[in-house]
Amino acid sequence: MGRGLQLGKIFGIPFRIDYSWFVIFLLITTSLSLFIFPDAYPDWGAAQYWIVGIATSLLFFASVVAHELAHSAVSIRSGIPVKSITLFIFGGVAHIAREVTHPASELKMAAAGPLCSIALCGLFSGLWWVSRDFSVHLSALAWYLAIINGMLAVFNMIPGFPLDGGRVLRSILWMITSNYRRATRIATMTGYGTSYLFILGGIAIFFFFGLLNGLWLVFIGFFLNSAARSSYRQSMVRDALKGFVARDVMTKGLPSIPRNLTIKELVQSQLLISSSPCFLVADGERLEGVLTLHQIKELPREDWDITTVGQAMTPVEKLKAVKPSDDVISMLERMEEGTLNLVTVVEEGRMLGLILRENVIQFAYRLQELRT
Ligand SMILES: [Zn+2]
Repeated sequence: MGRGLQLGKIFGIPFRIDYSWFVIFLLITTSLSLFIFPDAYPDWGAAQYWIVGIATSLLFFASVVAHELAHSAVSIRSGIPVKSITLFIFGGVAHIAREVTHPASELKMAAAGPLCSIALCGLFSGLWWVSRDFSVHLSALAWYLAIINGMLAVFNMIPGFPLDGGRVLRSILWMITSNYRRATRIATMTGYGTSYLFILGGIAIFFFFGLLNGLWLVFIGFFLNSAARSSYRQSMVRDALKGFVARDVMTKGLPSIPRNLTIKELVQSQLLISSSPCFLVADGERLEGVLTLHQIKELPREDWDITTVGQAMTPVEKLKAVKPSDDVISMLERMEEGTLNLVTVVEEGRMLGLILRENVIQFAYRLQELRT
């Protein structure tokens, strides 16, 4: 979900729309304007279907933003900054800068979104109630927004991690057991369970009732399944790395190569015998840059004999440095924020080693395996 449109800021929080969101916006607008409103109000004109359809769709979009802002407001109040809000095909995500450290804050933060959706459901129900005597258009719009916000609240309260309901469940388990790992594990298992229910239920609806809606459920099921897997992995990595500093995870004693070597020469002379994930490009004592295995793989093979190490490397000026005593988890968060794959560990102007993101993740997995 890396691509999207940056739309400025709401209350200081950067706000992005993922391209996949336009699919759902089109789907909702067309199904309202071409099917739902024409079925319910056969005497309207075509323009009326489209105007009310687009207005309903835009207010639905505003409702999702309000839901995410509710999460964000509670998060900021508990002292955790919100990096951005992204809207995508299944709704919205508020990216918080770090994980919550207290179950009570997580409970409040997770519950805020669905509570906001329930409040909006109530608000639009009220609007429907007062407008139904004087404006059929306004009441139609209010009715669908009440339903859609109600559905948003219900869907998000499904107790599968990483949905809001899963986070609520985790925070409650966390309070009861005082064990974050066990709480995360149970909430994730519920997430997997729910995702399989969606997939199987969707298949059953499709085959036994011949309804295409079933496929939509299968689609949601797969999404929940992969979301549960990746957020479980992420929280386990953070958990494993707790207490470690940059010095513990850095790679030392990397092989040093000259900048005028071609990639082909490097591959022939070093790569086949060395297991190092990267090379220091140096002129005697002076470090000029770093070349990773990943950068070499990215280069087209036919360019290997015309490209030099100096051309392919990341020059030293572009490398970010951390201190050996820096906390690994916050370092990893900064790397993820800046999409950095490596940082150098520098103390008093002297480079002690390098940290590759993939190595830190592998390190976390190894620790995890030793513990379970
Ligand atoms: Zn939510």
